[in-house]
Amino acid sequence: MNFLEKRIQKDGRILSDNTLKVDQFFNHQIDPQLMKKVGQSFADYFKNDQITKILTIESSGIAPALMTGLYLNVPVIFARKHKSVIQKNNIYTANVYSFTKKTNNTISVNKDFINSNDRILMIDDFLANGSAISGMIDIISKANANIGGAGVAIEKKFQKGHQYIQKNGIKFLALASIASLDNGKIAFAHSK
Ligand code: 5GP
Repeated sequence: MNFLEKRIQKDGRILSDNTLKVDQFFNHQIDPQLMKKVGQSFADYFKNDQITKILTIESSGIAPALMTGLYLNVPVIFARKHKSVIQKNNIYTANVYSFTKKTNNTISVNKDFINSNDRILMIDDFLANGSAISGMIDIISKANANIGGAGVAIEKKFQKGHQYIQKNGIKFLALASIASLDNGKIAFAHSK
């Protein structure tokens, strides 16, 4: 097991057969040392991919994205879930179905921050059915920018997102890969 899988085993909580809670160290209370390793791991994997910017979605994606941006030395953009009053027209938008809230959100990014010269690395905390990644891909294509890859801290391999990313031929890294959450047990897809 790698560092993240060990921590998930220790402090992750299963909410249902398809939802894991990592509030203790990842997306409510945050362990900065762990997040630093997350950023280093993504940066190491994508270091030769000419990444110019990182894109994530607020709020849980910001911490891993920021750490990755620090190590790749590139800016980090987070798509907003709520439209800002000072940012009405100059935005790219996409639709994202929220896995945890079961609602549709419009995410938006200011057009000034992505352009056709960019090669974007998408980062998020979880991959479930791929709606968040698909929304980010939509924004990248609206900006005529290029996809450099996708990194998620935790993928639930039994849901549809993994296949969606593979089908689209996107370079991909999941730091922890969960095969199942059935019967109150976290089963990892492989041990690193
Ligand atoms: P997707 O869009 O791939 O269906 O779901 C990914 C998004 O939903 C992530 O941005 C993440 O915030 C949230 N999410 C999906 N599955 C889980 C989960 O098991 N636990 C938590 N805490 N968030 C999840």
